[in-house]
Amino acid sequence: MSDKWRPATVAAQAAGAWDRDSGGVVPAIRMASTYRRGADYALENPANTYGRDDNDTVRQAEEVLRRLEGAGAALLFPSGMAAIAALFRTVPAGGRVVVQSGIYWGTTKWLRDFCARRAVTLAEVDAADTVALAAALRTPADLVWIEVPSNPWLKTADIAAAAGLARSAGAALAVDATAATPVLMRPLALGADFVMHSATKALNGHSDVVAGVLACAAPGDPRWQAVAADRHDAGAILGPVEAWLLLRGLRTLPLRLERMCATAQGLADWLCQHDAVEAVLYPGLESHAGHGVAARQMRGGYGYLMSMLVRGGHADAARVAGRLEVFHRATSLGGVESLVEHRHVIEPHSGIPETLLRLSIGIEDAEDLRADLAQALAP
Ligand code: PLP
Repeated sequence: MSDKWRPATVAAQAAGAWDRDSGGVVPAIRMASTYRRGADYALENPANTYGRDDNDTVRQAEEVLRRLEGAGAALLFPSGMAAIAALFRTVPAGGRVVVQSGIYWGTTKWLRDFCARRAVTLAEVDAADTVALAAALRTPADLVWIEVPSNPWLKTADIAAAAGLARSAGAALAVDATAATPVLMRPLALGADFVMHSATKALNGHSDVVAGVLACAAPGDPRWQAVAADRHDAGAILGPVEAWLLLRGLRTLPLRLERMCATAQGLADWLCQHDAVEAVLYPGLESHAGHGVAARQMRGGYGYLMSMLVRGGHADAARVAGRLEVFHRATSLGGVESLVEHRHVIEPHSGIPETLLRLSIGIEDAEDLRADLAQALAP
């Protein structure tokens, strides 16, 4: 395929993949778990030995992601958490990591446990506050982990600033960009060493695959080599059917994002004016603390994720969530269908306010979503 293809073309044409056996414009799902050798015992295809790590469908999905990300290499994992764990396993026992506070609770929870088991020092810091991040990085570290924009606070750390600070502390910078996608933001171009996504979310976009992806700026980086060896040897691989579904979902990623961002921006602007809403957290709002940074490092929109604080208490937020009819009450984000999550109910001990409702905006008619929120927020 042409190197000049822009992201929408890379995505729509699966980075140039098609079925060379049938001539079909859609690549085949390669299901084999093992591969033939000839009479001389040489592999028929030297790229493929065994299904734990060798799969052409998975490689095709990785190639699309690599191209969209502008990365040196990309690897798929069976979940976002598996991708996160693969990178943190490269931190030596006794090392030090600096991790953004108030990010996806699953990451924080796993990291606290992992670091305690490995005797890794874990510093949790509000990385959207560059001064606080700089203070945490006066002590050398191995890895800095930020989530941009963060879930569910939508904090927007400055990736270029974080990259400089990480470098001066001898650390690599990794960015969880799940809520942005490579369509809206390319952390590697801003100086990050690694970028990660829960592909379960907008990358696949249809709420029918669990997957994760890690991409790197420099495939020769020993940390990347360790990640690749660990996936091969420890076997945290994505199955070919999931990879194919992901490839299919990726075809419409830029188009979906365009619609989701436009609707999200319109709803955020409208919710801000609503009497029953105390605050709206969305980087596309000029009132948002991270708007300036987001405007610099995102393009084409501010994402599909937002949170709102409902005026009142727990019961008021629960009533609004309970009344919604178009939004599904379900965890996760990034699908074509809009979701609402009363986060405090799911993670009561993580410090999330009881009145916070997280909204993932899908591709439905924007007016239907606005009308649904209007009836749910009515007195
Ligand atoms: N990162 C973010 C920002 C997430 O929201 C999630 C899941 O919600 C994850 C990582 C973990 O991804 P997965 O559920 O695919 O393991």
